[in-house]
Amino acid sequence: YHHKIPERLKHVPDASNPLFFDMVEYFFHRGWQVIEDQLIDAMVNVKGVDDNRKMVKGLLTIIRPCAALLEVHFPLKRDDGSYEMIQGFRAQHSQHRLPCKGGIRYSMDVCADEVRALAALMTFKCAVTDVPFGGGKAGLRIDPKKYSVGELERITRGFAMELAKKGFLGPSIDVPAPDIGTGEREMSWIAHTFAQTIGHAELNAAACVTGKPINQGGIHGRVSGTGRGVFHAVDQFIKNEQWMSQCDLTPGWPGKTYVCQGFGNVGFHTCRYFSRKGAKLLGVVEYNSALFNKDGIDPVDLKDYADSNNGSIKGYPKAEESPKVYHSVNSFFTNGNDLIYHECDIFVPAAVEQVITKDNAAKMNCKMIAEGANGPLTPAADKILIDKKVLIVPDLFCNAGGVTVSYFEWLKNLNHVSYGRLHFKYERDSNFLLLGSVEESLRNILESAGIDSKLVKILPTHEYMMKMSGASERDIVNSGLEY
Ligand code: GLU
Repeated sequence: YHHKIPERLKHVPDASNPLFFDMVEYFFHRGWQVIEDQLIDAMVNVKGVDDNRKMVKGLLTIIRPCAALLEVHFPLKRDDGSYEMIQGFRAQHSQHRLPCKGGIRYSMDVCADEVRALAALMTFKCAVTDVPFGGGKAGLRIDPKKYSVGELERITRGFAMELAKKGFLGPSIDVPAPDIGTGEREMSWIAHTFAQTIGHAELNAAACVTGKPINQGGIHGRVSGTGRGVFHAVDQFIKNEQWMSQCDLTPGWPGKTYVCQGFGNVGFHTCRYFSRKGAKLLGVVEYNSALFNKDGIDPVDLKDYADSNNGSIKGYPKAEESPKVYHSVNSFFTNGNDLIYHECDIFVPAAVEQVITKDNAAKMNCKMIAEGANGPLTPAADKILIDKKVLIVPDLFCNAGGVTVSYFEWLKNLNHVSYGRLHFKYERDSNFLLLGSVEESLRNILESAGIDSKLVKILPTHEYMMKMSGASERDIVNSGLEY
């Protein structure tokens, strides 16, 4: 290769536990080698080849580092009256296309290195799908489970203010979205904080963040978007005979077995789409539990159980708990279970980065890996698995569904349009739909206006929204909307 891997990154392909940004940079330089050589090959007979080469090298040089990194510490008054300082970061990896785009995560693993690396992955992910954003990522170093809803709201609003004041939030500069530990609720707090403060005179304030609830400028399909994207990415390979024969599989979904690590937003929806196509979910590995059933686990049933069990899959009665534990790199999954080594056709890491490493990659027993998480494989693991003929569907392509749907939410907000508009439907003498919560008082109002209320059908707000917007009950509940 013409391009040489920098000395300081030479250790990365052999490292058990490289720094995350070093790992992303190493992959970047590998890509650089391929680009430069292929370009040079393609340009041998082209006039001005040296100028072109300089330009390509220039572009790669510019895009490599993280353009800006913000670190903030801001206070939280807890419910018991005590004070705490909250640490947060936002990285803008590439500002070549604005706004910067990427999620906000709440986790104890958040640090400058992690946020920088995840922001870089966002740059490349947006480029792969040609979504016109630069890469960004934010994180708060907190365990969200340890705070009340009120505290989380104060934390999120406080962080939104810090970001906005410092030029790290706004529809045309930097647009966050959900990631680990955050969802529609947090996004609506951010949108509201921005609109009420720095964005008060901004026509497009709602576009300062994506992944909002549907009733606040969100878009249908954002919640399931990443999982749906994982499905479509894998589908491209599953239906292709050549790719399948390379990893010793037969084409087609029915009967494929899979194990999923992580049962959050990405994991759950991925499982839903895989199983809908006839694949069998053998195991689910979460940070506090690992479930196995050789006859398959129904993802929707498991999710319903988790929803009724404080969000945890632990204790699910229709699968066995798999007890053995192994070490994995990231503390979130320190209790990584040997289920990840179970024989299956597809393994889906849909939790955190650097879970498959030099130390455990050789133990994997899958034919395909679908990277739902960002950066789940270290370079050493990547090499071991490729040598084992495992087909790896990389994160940049595999989990780009979320940001792709985010792009449409952002466009929708900028255009002030709504697909699946919420509106009153009034058809005289037949069917009069009215949005309402207190049915009796609404009927009284109608009667006093001289309308026969028996002709009027009154739906509770959430049912009305489901009917008119196409949202599901789960979308409405997740939005935190009170009704
Ligand atoms: N956090 C998601 C990701 O890693 C979504 C980013 C977005 O929608 O901006 O891709």
